[in-house]
Amino acid sequence: MAKYVYFFGATGTEGDGKQKNLLGGKGANLAEMCRIGLPVPAGFTITTDVCNYYYANNKTYPAELRAQIDEAMRKTEAEMGAKFGDTKNPLLVSCRSGARVSMPGMMDTVLNIGLNEKTLEGLINSTQNERFAWDCYRRFIQMYGDVVLDLKPTNKKEIDPFEHILEELKHEKHVELDTDLSVGDLKELVKRFKAAVKEKKGSEFPDDPMEQMLGAAAAVFHSWNNDRAIVYRRQYGYPHEWGTAVNICSMVFGNMGNDSGTGVAFTRDPATGDDVFYGEYLINAQGEDVVAGIRTPKKIQELEKEMPASYRQLQEIRKKLEAHYRDVQDIEFTIQKGKLWMLQTRNGKRTGFAAVHFAVDMVDEGLITWNEALSVGRIPPDDLNQLLQPIFDPAAKRDAKTIAKGINAGPGAASGVIKFFADDAEAYVKQYGKPDAHGKIPPEGRVILVRRETSPEDLRGMQAADGILTAFGGASSHAALVSRQMGKVCIVGCDKLKIDYDKLTMTVGDQVFKDGDFISIDGFTGEVMAGRVATKPSEVVQVLISKTMKPEESKTYQKFARLMAEADKVRKLKIRTNADQPDQSLQAIAFGAQGIGLCRTEHMFFDHITDFRKMILAKDDPAKNEARKRADIVSVFIDGNYFKTIEVDRELVAGEERRTVKTTEAVITEREQALVALLKYQRQDFYGIFKAMKGFPVTIRTLDPPLHEFLPHEEKSVADVASQMGISADAIHARVKELHEFNPMLGFRGCRLGIVFPEITAMQARAIIEAACDVALEGIPVEPEIMIPLVGFPAELKAQAKIVHDVAKHVFAEKKITIPYLVGTMIELPRAAMAADKIVSDGGAQFFSFGTNDLTQTGLGMSRDDYGSFIRHYAENDIIAKDPFQVIDFDGVGLLMKTGVEKGRTADPELKIGICGEHGGEPDSVKFCHKIGLNYVSCSPFRVPIARLAAAQAVLEEKK
Ligand code: PEP
Ligand code: MG
Repeated sequence: MAKYVYFFGATGTEGDGKQKNLLGGKGANLAEMCRIGLPVPAGFTITTDVCNYYYANNKTYPAELRAQIDEAMRKTEAEMGAKFGDTKNPLLVSCRSGARVSMPGMMDTVLNIGLNEKTLEGLINSTQNERFAWDCYRRFIQMYGDVVLDLKPTNKKEIDPFEHILEELKHEKHVELDTDLSVGDLKELVKRFKAAVKEKKGSEFPDDPMEQMLGAAAAVFHSWNNDRAIVYRRQYGYPHEWGTAVNICSMVFGNMGNDSGTGVAFTRDPATGDDVFYGEYLINAQGEDVVAGIRTPKKIQELEKEMPASYRQLQEIRKKLEAHYRDVQDIEFTIQKGKLWMLQTRNGKRTGFAAVHFAVDMVDEGLITWNEALSVGRIPPDDLNQLLQPIFDPAAKRDAKTIAKGINAGPGAASGVIKFFADDAEAYVKQYGKPDAHGKIPPEGRVILVRRETSPEDLRGMQAADGILTAFGGASSHAALVSRQMGKVCIVGCDKLKIDYDKLTMTVGDQVFKDGDFISIDGFTGEVMAGRVATKPSEVVQVLISKTMKPEESKTYQKFARLMAEADKVRKLKIRTNADQPDQSLQAIAFGAQGIGLCRTEHMFFDHITDFRKMILAKDDPAKNEARKRADIVSVFIDGNYFKTIEVDRELVAGEERRTVKTTEAVITEREQALVALLKYQRQDFYGIFKAMKGFPVTIRTLDPPLHEFLPHEEKSVADVASQMGISADAIHARVKELHEFNPMLGFRGCRLGIVFPEITAMQARAIIEAACDVALEGIPVEPEIMIPLVGFPAELKAQAKIVHDVAKHVFAEKKITIPYLVGTMIELPRAAMAADKIVSDGGAQFFSFGTNDLTQTGLGMSRDDYGSFIRHYAENDIIAKDPFQVIDFDGVGLLMKTGVEKGRTADPELKIGICGEHGGEPDSVKFCHKIGLNYVSCSPFRVPIARLAAAQAVLEEKK
């Protein structure tokens, strides 16, 4: 018979901590805590199989379920010494969701199940506390009404009927706090709550305890598919098929008076990573009060004074849990009349900072190995981003006006305009937060979401905002947990803020801040500042890049460096960077790059745009080109304002071709003249890069984008350029018109430019080889790799490679030095991937680099510039799981890559292959690249550490 229900308790626990898929994370850990002897209130877990059965069978349950529930309930009752539904000594239970991974606040919970007018009497008898019992009952009706009977408001304008009744009653009774309500008031509240249910639902509030419990379980299963849970799963890539388990746990009460309480804690500080017990609690409260952020709780350390025995026991449990789980735990506990109960443990969510500190510290403590420290479960590679994030410039911060201080819940520095509602924040960022040409989001496009507290409905707005600031709540509130996971800057519990959602204002003392005003928040210290405060690089960046901090001054840097060093020992992939300038290259080396995987030469032309435009606007000289072709002439540039052509005479001597080379001076074309000017600049740039890279390989790509991108289009710019160049605006218009394309990304670009204008390739090849020779002559090793873009046909590459080889030969003779170099190609067209063997054997490719931006564009037939209009719809409707321009489309584009690798290596088993599309810094894509046997990945400088860690994880995951 299928087993659907697993009991847990002090005796006879059926599940264990490994069964997360079946019991959910919460259920598995409750069972595990029982197994290691921690005090857990008995209960049982209904498995995720039941959730999946429920959805697959028209929302019905398996036939065997009810009997299994009854049996587990009997065991629970026996252990707790109380009976579910009993009128003398009733057992109350909670019903909690529990998926494989924690999804904080996404799904539903109901507490105090089993109460009705009769069991209430029993509860009063057994506890001798009438107020407490009525308080439980009114909480139960509200929660059950909201969650199971669906009376919860669905948008910000609706009012929770129960909250409304409660506020009304408090007003009538002239009291401020719930705790000021008398027993009589609570009775009245229950009466009004029930009447509201009857009015809204047309039926009585359910009295039968088992009906209540099954109703709550069904609500939890439903909540697996509520909007926010679906959005959450999509964001983190969790499959919808997992389902949730349901945990039925005996209730223990933290609201039984001043010898009771409830709290949440982390075994270490999840924000900074410090090894301190970190948490908070409330006396005389139930669990939801702490995380809901409605009352600001006390620091866990204060419990030592208030309840020393429980605090001591918690400290022991803290050590025991860390030793057992070998990771930082996030726990929930309740103290009922002085007795401590553990309600939950799970691996604590943490910031990127804390993840690095925890991992390295636990290696030092002998709890884990380096391989474990490097695992994705401990440090998701993207989290390293946080160690590289900016902080406030101390000088600017000194001048800034701190207006309030809250709890520092998510580190980093954020500055932006105030938005009070999540949807407003989302809309604002959508409209004003677009990155500029350099990929930077302007300061006025950034938002700080300011709320009294946040709830799961605010998820999207939180995602859009740079920072989150709340007036209530502690370090474990929803805002804090979610921000930390998203890597957002966050301050909570900033109780000086008076937020008025109607007037859209935030008042601090006598200062009023409006929607749209700038504020800045420091997630390291909890300070809130008026206005915009300048930011500066993180400690790691200061040590490595700006060198404004010494390594020994930064603990974070030291641990980061040790971790990276260990990752480097494990990984097989090399990590390169995409960089066009010497300073970028140096940055990337500081972050651990081992070469340049893509230098986009066109970026350099923007600094010399006038000369480049002259080249584009130059008139063709067909007669001259024809003559050269007939005479088998290769044009080769010589430094200075003239160049010579090399004419090749061929004759057969004893059956073998013998070539004699004549050098003739020639009148150069207008285009060549413009190129001569560019040669000087290009050589300078390449010289700087080779020198900075000190012998690391440098892949330089020949011109790729369509030429029209470099010409002015607006009337005013056309006029300016015309006068600069001494030509008519009409001439520019005419050339723009000539170069116009309907689909320029599939038009006259890539190697097609070099095929039609071989002199461009020849100039670039000369600049590269000359610069490399000059650096080599200074005794610095060089390793240039010249890369031809957008190749589809072997003949394209062959023609371009010939130009490069001819130029190289000539430059070596001139400079009297020979250096090693390679000519290779990008693989960014499906044809190139499918014919990769021919690209090597016939085209002469000496290396490949996957240009996955274009390969995705051409492989999916999805324009990389235009896909924004529909991709969100695709993601929201589960048509594709991930944005294919961020994460490689493994089944399609990935297969093209795999084929390209296999075919390329059939022609040359030693072929060096890398990737230089944006995917080269995305952890899952890096792992895929490792799997298909690439030699390196190349990514932007700030992603280098992320790629290093992901590459190490790829090796470790392969071993499993
Ligand atoms: C690519 O296509 O992946 C690539 C790196 O080239 P670009 O982005 O410059 O087109
Ligand atoms: Mg490309």
